[in-house]
Amino acid sequence: MADRHPAVPSEAIDWVERLHALVDEAAAPVERLAAARLRCRAGCADCCVDDLTVFAIEAAVIRRHHAELLETAEPHPPGGCAFLDAGGLCRIYAHRPYVCRTQGLPLRWLEEDELEEEIIESRDICPKNVDGGPPLEELDADACWTLGPFEQRLAERQHALDGDKGERVALRSLFARDDARRHLPLLRSTAPSK
Ligand code: SF4
Repeated sequence: MADRHPAVPSEAIDWVERLHALVDEAAAPVERLAAARLRCRAGCADCCVDDLTVFAIEAAVIRRHHAELLETAEPHPPGGCAFLDAGGLCRIYAHRPYVCRTQGLPLRWLEEDELEEEIIESRDICPKNVDGGPPLEELDADACWTLGPFEQRLAERQHALDGDKGERVALRSLFARDDARRHLPLLRSTAPSK
């Protein structure tokens, strides 16, 4: 059967794995600074929402390391990320995508207000991690994870690879069984009628 997911060269997959290591390295000091307020624990899956999509190059990392899981296991039922297990743990934790690696940290991002010609900074954090530390607006910038630069690098690599399509893949669609289920009505409709 033809592979239904985009082919990704192995050097691009290697590159994403190195980027993930850099993300972990850069997030570690932010995590240390925020330690007193972080309620992130194994089994808390509030960030693990359903319908997450990632660039095809990140999906390829999961496919490289978890072929058997994707071929034989059931995805988590709709309502939570397909990779959660029954205990609320991630089944691909070591190879989870970028977006999953900084959840729970104090986040900041910059946007340009074209009318006012100024840069606006916004901040946010999981509601469970609000208490136990200074208000977000009082934190130094380096005590927050800045959204943007790593996303930009991933996007540029994906666009360079696929002719600027920026192809994204739904995490749930990586499971063979989920894919088979979605095609079931089609298979039924092609069965010969009696
Ligand atoms: S891939 Fe893992 S860490 Fe990321 S949302 Fe899914 S279960 Fe959570």
